[in-house]
Amino acid sequence: MAVPRKALTVGIDVGGTSLRAAVVDGTGQVRELLRVPTPKSADALDDSLDQAVRTLAARHSIAAVGLAVAGFVSDDRSTVRFAPHLPWLDAPVGVELSARLGLPVILEHDANAALVGEHRFGAAAGGRVVALIAIGTGIGAALLIDGTLYRGAHGIAPELGHLQVVPDGRACPCGKRGCWERYCSGTALARTAGQLLAAEPGGSRTLAHAAADPDSLTGRLVAAAARDGDPIAVAAMRDLAGWLGLGLAGVADMYDPDLVVIGGGVSASAPLFLDDARERYAAALTGAGHRPLARIRAAQLGDAAGMIGAAELARAAHTDG
Ligand SMILES: [Zn+2]
Repeated sequence: MAVPRKALTVGIDVGGTSLRAAVVDGTGQVRELLRVPTPKSADALDDSLDQAVRTLAARHSIAAVGLAVAGFVSDDRSTVRFAPHLPWLDAPVGVELSARLGLPVILEHDANAALVGEHRFGAAAGGRVVALIAIGTGIGAALLIDGTLYRGAHGIAPELGHLQVVPDGRACPCGKRGCWERYCSGTALARTAGQLLAAEPGGSRTLAHAAADPDSLTGRLVAAAARDGDPIAVAAMRDLAGWLGLGLAGVADMYDPDLVVIGGGVSASAPLFLDDARERYAAALTGAGHRPLARIRAAQLGDAAGMIGAAELARAAHTDG
């Protein structure tokens, strides 16, 4: 089914806590946005998606639907293989939703969708080999080469967050230890600040309450304290910047990108860590000083990137040019 360039499409970000659906036009502008809590059962989730698209389609002429999913998606982008925070397992979500709605539906890994959104309309514009590092609870990663998403042999987006950077390091929910995201994420920011506080209980006025209860720390709290100049929080942010730069040097050894875009919730604090990360990256790079450096930029589309990218992918999959 061909979708004209001017048509509207719906992009949906299916996250573990909320489902956000946007009507997006061909210039990447969001015309309307709906947000509902993500239901716990697969049937209820399918119903919510159906309902969200019908609600939007009653007010706009919708040509296709794209879903950005936090999980593994099949090669043909019709089935969710595995999504740790969603009730789908080997679920043919695209085929079923398409049959219910009578519209073309495609699925995409959420980091891939976000990178497509940033490349088409945001910080990744013009990049030839672009890596997206989305730093939130963990790290989501995606790679775009000459305008095409790199999916590997099995359709699984690059899992850069689980590269081991510290042998026998911090335990990771993936089952391994010392994964990059255990040192470079919102979760890591809280953990590092907790460790620094334990070593120096009087070192922070803003975070002092957490000295007795490190679990009460969150990445968001630490980032806010770092913005206010709190010494412990600033040190934790500098630690994150160092790990980011070191990891990016490894990413550059693998893919030699010309552009790296830092997205995810933590990227809202990019001014606090990006310069330090660039410095560490430049120093840690193989052949440092004798090769071009990738530009490292903060994402521009915020948490709408996945929706906008999914809507664009739905348009591209069905467009007639
Ligand atoms: Zn891991």
